[in-house]
Order: sequence, then C-alpha cells, then structure tokens
Amino acid sequence: MPDQAPTSLDSIDVSRFSLLDLMVLAIAECGMPLGYAEIATRLQGLGIDVWIESLQKAWHGLPPLRKTDDGRIELVPDHPTFALLQRRVQDHVAHDQLERASQDDRSPIRPEELERALPPPTRTLGLSGLHVIGLMIESAGRPLSIPEVSAEARKYGLDFDEAALQRSADRPHTFLRAAPPERWTIESPDPRMTEARGRVRKLIKLKAEKAACERRNREAFERYRAQRAEEEAQAARLERKVLWQGQVLSVQPRIRLTRSYDERSHSYLGYSLRIAGKIGNESREFTVGIGAAAQAKSAFRAGDHVSGASYPVANQRTESVEYYKTSALKLVARGPRVDEAPPPWRSLPPALTVYRERGHRRLDPRTYEMHCLACIWGCRMPVEMIVDPWKRTKRYRSETFCYGPKTCAFYRSGKTRKVPGRNAPNWEEENWVDEDATSKRGPDE
Ligand code: SF4
Repeated sequence: MPDQAPTSLDSIDVSRFSLLDLMVLAIAECGMPLGYAEIATRLQGLGIDVWIESLQKAWHGLPPLRKTDDGRIELVPDHPTFALLQRRVQDHVAHDQLERASQDDRSPIRPEELERALPPPTRTLGLSGLHVIGLMIESAGRPLSIPEVSAEARKYGLDFDEAALQRSADRPHTFLRAAPPERWTIESPDPRMTEARGRVRKLIKLKAEKAACERRNREAFERYRAQRAEEEAQAARLERKVLWQGQVLSVQPRIRLTRSYDERSHSYLGYSLRIAGKIGNESREFTVGIGAAAQAKSAFRAGDHVSGASYPVANQRTESVEYYKTSALKLVARGPRVDEAPPPWRSLPPALTVYRERGHRRLDPRTYEMHCLACIWGCRMPVEMIVDPWKRTKRYRSETFCYGPKTCAFYRSGKTRKVPGRNAPNWEEENWVDEDATSKRGPDE
C-alpha cells in the first residue's frame, strides 16, 4: 500500500477528512517535507480556511508525520496509519464514482456494481427470477439464454435454477423480449428493473458503510496501540533513576506559584541545583531538584562537586527542574569560596523562610537568562493558573522573579503579567504588587 501513488487532494471530497488527514495527504502529494506555511497555503487553495496554529494543534506529533531537523514535517510512508488513510481515500473515491453512477437507478447496472454488491447476505437479495434475468442481461450488455443467465447468476452467488428462471421469462407482461436463437433481451424501460438496480446499489452502500465502520475501528485501535506504546515508553523512562555527578553552577529556590485571577500563593518545594557534568551517559548542563532538608544538611553552593541519583520529572508543567526525587545525594568536594563581587550573588543561599519574608519582584525572562541563572536570588517558577475554579480549568506557564536587592544593576522588570479570568478580562499584575511584596526591605537589602 505505501508504494501506491499519492492521491491528488483535488480529486477527493476534503470535507470527509480530518485536518490531520489533509496535512498527511498534502505532504504525500508533494512528495517532500513541507513547512506549516506551505501546508496551509496548499489547503487554502482547496478552500479550507486554515491557520498555522490549527495545523500545529491538529498534528501535535502524531504519526505518520514527524519533524525533520530543519523544522519541516515529513511523512513516514511505511507507517500503518498512512496505509489505512490511503485505503480510506481510495474507498471514498470509488464510493463517489459509484454514487454519481447510481444517482439515477434508471442507469443500467454495470458488472463491477454486481461484483461489489454480490454475493448477497441472503440467498436471493429479495430479487425475483425476472429481476435476475434483467440484471444479468443488462450487465452482460447482450442477449442471454436462460442457461447463460443461470450460470452468470451463480457466478455472483445468486441461487436460481434454470426451470424457475424459464418460468419467469415465459410469463406475460414482462419487460423481456425473445431474441432468437433462444435468447432474451430487455425490451423497454420498466419500474421492476429500476427496483432491482436500487436493491443492488443499496447493498453496495451498506457494504461500504460496514467496511468504513470496520476501518474506523481498526484505525482507532492502531491509534490506541501507538498511544499505549508511547505511554509505556514514557513510564519506563520515568521509572528509571538516572545517576549524575558534576559541579554546581548555581543554587536557587524551587518554588511553585499558583494564580487564581488576582490571588497568588507559593509552594516552597526546596532548591534547584544547576549542574555542569554527566547525567546518565550525557555530558551537559542540567537541573536537579532537592529538598530543603538536604540543602540544610549539606549547604550546597556554586562551585561544589556533587553526585546523586534522580528520577526524570513526570510533569514538566509543574516543575522548574528536569530531575527530582533525588537519593544518594553526596557532596563529593567542597568548591573554593566565590570571591567575585556581586551581582550575581553566588554565595550560600538562605533558608526558604528568608525568601518568603523578602518577597519577590517580577524579572524580565531575558535578563534572567543573561545575568541571573547563577544568582541565589533568581527564581524560575512553574505557574499553575486556575482559570475556572468550578470547572477546574487550568493553564500552565513559567515566570521569572528576583528576590535580590532592589538596587541590583542587572535588574529589569520586563512586561507586566496578565492572568486570565473566568468570563472576565485578564487581570494585570501592575507594579504596585511588586512594591507591596518587597515593601519591608530597604533599597540595598
Ligand atoms: S536581578 Fe536579581 S536575580 Fe538577577 S542578579 Fe540581580 S539580584 Fe540576582
């Protein structure tokens, strides 16, 4: 199936396919990876009003598409879901052709229609001998003798003996006319033939619907299996503790912020260690979450050499670190004292209660990335926003804050932050909130 030529999008009824199906077909039709904008342009050419965001939402990493290194989207042609989609497209095309042909049951029946409809689910499909004679003659396109009609009918699974067919042909007032030698042909249009054609075509529709239903079930099962495999791989990953070791670049508070319109609350989870070293088989920079007790015991600070074993974070939306639930945490070697003049402050971080008492001001995310990653007063918080407390609708993002002295030369507040509300305009957290939160401190504290 994958080696079949891709169907042109122009030849199908696009309203019968999902946006993801159309993305797959657009890429298959083009025969090369496409960017979102190119896919959107192709679909807009078909009269589909689509935006890049809706394409991103429709795909969200599902097979048979995958991202290339340069950010485009390519098709995995031998993926089973693509084979199923191709089959569905072909069935739709065939169904449409048939639909057009059978819109008028006065049009003659064709052999391929009989092949699709027959053998019938019942012995005769409720067809009389006269119906069968008419259908066989019409599909053969020439006069037939009764033995020929019987043989043709048997080929399609219709069980009529010759004597019964002969009796039907010999009755008065049929639409048949004798065509020597010993053959029959159709004399004139007749409502009984229209009825026979209608029955055959209705059966084709029913069979097509049943096949489509079975296909949908198969596709749903394929999707379920792919999702399960993904979940199992994720679960296996999360169940594995990873050994790590390296040098601490910074220690910052690990605090989660919950917002509900104009209200906010903090959960003090512990500390975040930014480490340059080895995690599993990789050498890179990574972040590990530890508890307040572990920090109080070992007093980690920038420059220390540490090691431990941690789990990957299960839900990145509620954590600011990559790894947590750390065990075997060990101070391998105390680092030298940091003599650099602040900012940033790289000494021993205070207890979490100190952070709570000091209060924070919003910090521009770019300033945080450029100057504050190493500072004990910087903090990136995962933020959970309760949009509708009744429906428990939540949104997630991260925000950066500064607990440091108000006179810090690096400090930039950045844009004010907005919090969505239920059936209400966004609430804007203005400067007075920061001033109020840090009002107990003087400019240099
Ligand atoms: S702005 Fe805040 S977090 Fe950044 S260096 Fe200054 S005190 Fe530290």
